[in-house]
Amino acid sequence: MSDRQGARPKRRRSSSLSRKSRTVQKTKRRSSSSGEEGPVKKKPAKGKGSKRLLGGHMSIAGGIWKAVHDSVIVGGTAFAMFLGSQRTWKSKPIDERAAERFRQACVEYGFHPSVILPHGSYLMNCGSPRRDIFQKSRSMLIDELRRCEQLGLTMFNFHPGSTLNEISVEECLERIADSINYAHQHTNKVMTVIENMCCQGNTVGGRFSEIKGIIKLVRNKKRIGVCLDTCHAFAAGYDLSARGGVKKMLDEFDAQVGMKYLMAIHLNDSKGMLECHKDRHENIGYGHIGLDGFRQVMNEPRLRKIPMILETPHRPNFDYEKEIKLLRSLCN
Ligand SMILES: [Zn+2]
Repeated sequence: MSDRQGARPKRRRSSSLSRKSRTVQKTKRRSSSSGEEGPVKKKPAKGKGSKRLLGGHMSIAGGIWKAVHDSVIVGGTAFAMFLGSQRTWKSKPIDERAAERFRQACVEYGFHPSVILPHGSYLMNCGSPRRDIFQKSRSMLIDELRRCEQLGLTMFNFHPGSTLNEISVEECLERIADSINYAHQHTNKVMTVIENMCCQGNTVGGRFSEIKGIIKLVRNKKRIGVCLDTCHAFAAGYDLSARGGVKKMLDEFDAQVGMKYLMAIHLNDSKGMLECHKDRHENIGYGHIGLDGFRQVMNEPRLRKIPMILETPHRPNFDYEKEIKLLRSLCN
C-alpha cells in the first residue's frame, strides 16, 4: 500500500449494496425532474490527463439518454451503462424516442461510439452447459447487440461465462465462441467485447489463454474485442500494484491475445488481495492495487487512446467526478 493510500480514511461500504447497484454510482442531476433539460456543457478539461478517455458506468434510470447527461456532469469523456433491466431475461424494448434522444445527446456532447461501452446483463452465461440458460443467453446476446445498433453504438461488453463445474473449460470456451458466432450471424456490425474475469468459482476468461481460446474460434475477428478490468486482473494474479506490473500484464496480454484486440479498460481498485479470485471492486486508491498501480495505468502509452471506465462503489464525498479528476491528476 502506498503512503497516500494509507492516509485515507477507511470507511465501510454499506452492506446493503447489491452486486448490480455497486456498479452504478448515482449522479446528482441538474436537469429538471421531467428530464427535459440537459446538463450544462462543460469546458473541456485542461492540463495533464485531459485527453484520457475516462468515465463511469452510468445509471439509465429515468431514460437511457440520462447516462449521457450524467457523464457530462461528472466530467467524463467515455462511459458505460446497462441496456435494460438486470433482473429479467426479457427487458422491454428501448422506446425509439428514447433511443433518438440518446443518439442526439451523444452527438451534442461529443461522445463518439468508440468511447461508449454498454455492459451486458449478469444473467447471461453464453458458455452454460444447461440448455435453457444457454439458449436464453444467446437470445439475450442478440437482443443486446440489436439494442446497441438502435442506439448507434458499435461495441458491447459482457462476461464470457461459467462452466458451472459441469463441463470442461475448453467446452465452455467453445460454447461461448459458438454463441458469439451465432449472434454475429443474426446482427449487423456491433463488436462483441469479452471481459477478463478474476478466476472466481467456475468462471472462464480469468486467464489470457482462455480469452485467446475464445477469440481463436470466433469467425469474424473484426467483431471480437477485449475489455480488461484492473480489479479482475489483480484478483486473478496480475500484480498491478508492483512496479512495472501494468507493463508486465500488457506484455503478456499482447503475447497471448494481441493488443489489437484491446478495446477498453475497466478501472477498479480491488478490495481483495492479489490472486484472491474475488470480484470485489473498490474505489481508486482505497484497495490493494493502490494509486501507484493506477499511475502506471494512466501513463501506459498503449492505453492512451482507449476508453477507461470506472465501476467503483458509491462512497460519500468520492463520486465519479472526483475519481475521474484524481485519475487525470496521476498522468505525467
Ligand atoms: Zn468490469
